[in-house]
Amino acid sequence: MAETPQGQGQETLSNLLQESRSFPPPADLAADANVQADAYDAASADRLRFWEDQARRLQWEQPWSNVLDWNPPFAEWFTGGKLNAAVNCVDRHVDAGRGERVAFHWEGEPGDTRTITYADLKDMVCQAANALTELGVGKGDRVAIYMPMIPETVVAMLACARVGAVHMVVFGGFSVDALGTRLDDSEAKLVVTADGGYRRGKPSSLKPAVDDAVRDRPAVENVLVVRRTGQDVEWNEGRDVWWHDIVDRQSAEHAAEAHDSEHPLYIMYTSGTTAKPKGILHTTGGYLTQVSYTHWAVFDLKPETDVFWTAADIGWVTGHSYIVYGPLSNGATSVMYEGTPDTPHKGRFWEIVQKYGVTIAYMAPTAIRTFMKWGEEYPAQFDLSSLRVLGSVGEPINPEAYMWYRTHIGGGRTPIVDTWWQTETGAIMVTPMPGITHGKPGAAMQPIPGVVADVVDESGESVPRGQGGFIVIREPWPSMLRGIWGDPERYKKTYWSRFEGLYFPGDGAKRDEDGDLWLLGRVDDVMLVSGHNISTTEVESALVAHPNVAEAAVTGASDPVTGQAIVAFVILRSEAGDGGSGLVKELREHVAAHLGPIAKPRQILVVPELPKTRSGKIMRRLLKDVAENRELGDVSTLTDAQSIQTLQEAFQESGKSDE
Ligand code: ATP
Ligand code: MG
Repeated sequence: MAETPQGQGQETLSNLLQESRSFPPPADLAADANVQADAYDAASADRLRFWEDQARRLQWEQPWSNVLDWNPPFAEWFTGGKLNAAVNCVDRHVDAGRGERVAFHWEGEPGDTRTITYADLKDMVCQAANALTELGVGKGDRVAIYMPMIPETVVAMLACARVGAVHMVVFGGFSVDALGTRLDDSEAKLVVTADGGYRRGKPSSLKPAVDDAVRDRPAVENVLVVRRTGQDVEWNEGRDVWWHDIVDRQSAEHAAEAHDSEHPLYIMYTSGTTAKPKGILHTTGGYLTQVSYTHWAVFDLKPETDVFWTAADIGWVTGHSYIVYGPLSNGATSVMYEGTPDTPHKGRFWEIVQKYGVTIAYMAPTAIRTFMKWGEEYPAQFDLSSLRVLGSVGEPINPEAYMWYRTHIGGGRTPIVDTWWQTETGAIMVTPMPGITHGKPGAAMQPIPGVVADVVDESGESVPRGQGGFIVIREPWPSMLRGIWGDPERYKKTYWSRFEGLYFPGDGAKRDEDGDLWLLGRVDDVMLVSGHNISTTEVESALVAHPNVAEAAVTGASDPVTGQAIVAFVILRSEAGDGGSGLVKELREHVAAHLGPIAKPRQILVVPELPKTRSGKIMRRLLKDVAENRELGDVSTLTDAQSIQTLQEAFQESGKSDE
C-alpha cells in the first residue's frame, strides 16, 4: 500500500474539493467591460494576429517584420520591430496631452506623500537617463537596484530601459549574501540604492548592505544613493554618488533610442521557494505587449477614472509588471505605498483605499489571510465603496479567503480576479475576466485570450474534466522568459524537458466538471497518501474553511503505514483565542468531512507564525523537514529564521504528548 507507484491507473492528482458558489459579474461592469467574450474567439481563430493587435497598443518606432520566430524552446516576438519601453510608459502620454495626469500617488510609511504626474515622471526619467550616461552606463550594461518603495525606484528602472541598460532589482529586504550572489551572476556595474527606507515605523538601512556586498566586487564601479531617511551613511569617495548631486543637475531632455523588440529589459531572480534563484530574462516588445494587455483586460482598467493599486513590492515580478510596466504603459493612475500593512495601525491599507479612492486593488493571499487573522473590524472602519475589482496573486487563494476578501473588502460587489502566473511567464496567464467570468472561489478559471494552457497527466495527455494533473503551456506567449541569465541548459532542463514541446511551470492543477482550472500548488509539494496524490492546497483550503482558522500550511511526512501522512500547521483567527483543547480533533474531523477520510491530517499543530519567503509564500519544504524530524534545509530566503526553530521545538514537544 505504502509504495503504490505513481500513475498506474490512478489519477495524477486527486480532485477532492467541491465548490458550488459562483458569482456573475455585476451587470454595469459587464456591459462596459474592456474585454468581451469575443476576445477569446478572436484569439483562438488566429492567435498570432491577436497578439499583433495587442502589440499595436504600443508605440513602435519601427514596425516588426515577423510576429514570432519559434525555435523551441527559444522564442523571439515582433522581430525587426523597434521601440523604447520608457517612451511607451511615459513620453507618449505626455505627448498626447496627458502630462497632468497623476502617474503615482505615493504614500510613505510615516505619512509623507508625493504626487507624481506623467510630466513629472518624464523629467525625472530623462534626468536619470542622462545621469546614467554620465556614469558610463550604456546599452546592455546591467544595473542593480536595491531600493525601498519610493518613486526613484521606478525612475531608475525606466531610466535603464530608456538607455537600454538591463535592470536587476533585488528586493530591499534581502541580505548582503543574496545581493552579492545576484551582483556576481548579473555582473552589474552600477548599484542604485538609498540610505534606507521606512518599515514598521522606523528607518531601516540599505546602504550598509550594499557597502558589504560591493566591498569585494570591483566590477561594481559606482553606487548611486538616494537620500530617503537621512540616516548616516559611510561614504566611499570616488565610488559613491548622491542621486541629488548627479541627477538633479541633468537636463530634462533626453533623446531616446529605439531598441530592438528582443533587447533585454530586465533580469529578475525568482523568489527562491524551491531552489537556487534563477535569473529570469525578459525582453522588451513581447513583454510590454502582454503586461499592457493583461493590465488593461484583467483589471478592466479605465485609465481616465480608475485608481489602481498593486500592494506588492517592486522587488517581485508582480511589482515590475503591475506597478511599473503595465499601469504606466496604459497611462494609469496608481497608488504606491512604501511600508507595511500594520504601521501605524492594522487598518492602514484600508485607510489608503479610502484616501485615494482606489478602484482596483491587487494583493497576495498571504496578506488577505493576515487581514482575516486580524479581524474584519479593521476594514470596517473605512469607506471602501470606491473598489470595483479586486485581484489576487502569488499563491492559490483558498475559497474562504476569497469569500472574506469579496465580503469584507469588496462589499459583496466586486469580482475577484485570481491571477495565476510566474516570474517566468512575465504576465498574467490564467485568470477570470471581471466582466465575463462567473467567478468561483478558489479557481483561476481560464487562460487569457492568446494563451494556450492545459492540464496533463504524467504522460503529457490532457486530463478529462474532474481530474487533476500538471498545468502546461502549449504555445509560446509574448511575455515568456527568454532564458535563464547565462544558463541556457538550465532553462531547457527546468522548463522544457518534463514534457516534449510543452512549457512546464512546475505547478499542479485540476480541471473541474465545468472545464475551469484550479491551481493546486507546486508539484514538489504534492503528498502521496495511501496511493493517492493529494495537493497541499486542497487540505489547506479545507482547514481555512473552518471558522477558527486564518491560515494553514500542510506537508507530507513519511509514514510507515500510508507512505506519507498529512501534517498541518495552522494559525487561528484572533477571535478564536487559543481554540480550546478539543480544537485539533475537531479540525481533523472537519477536513475528513470536507475532503474525505483520505485527507484527514495525522497531526495538526497550532502555531503563531508560518515560515515564509520574503515574498510571503509558505516554505513547505522546511515544514517537511520539521514534520520528518530532520535538520532544517536552507533558511536564507526566510523572513524570520528564528520562527522555524521555535516551530520545530513546538512540534517535537507535541510529538511527545500525542496519542
Ligand atoms: P522559485 O521559482 O524560485 O521557487 P517562486 O515560484 O515562489 O520561486 P514566483 O515566480 O514569484 O517565484 O512565483 C510563481 C509561483 O507562485 C507559481 O508557479 C505558483 O506556484 C504560485 N502562484 C502565483 N500566482 C498564483 C495563483 N493565482 N494561484 C496559484 N498559485 C499561484
Ligand atoms: Mg517558481
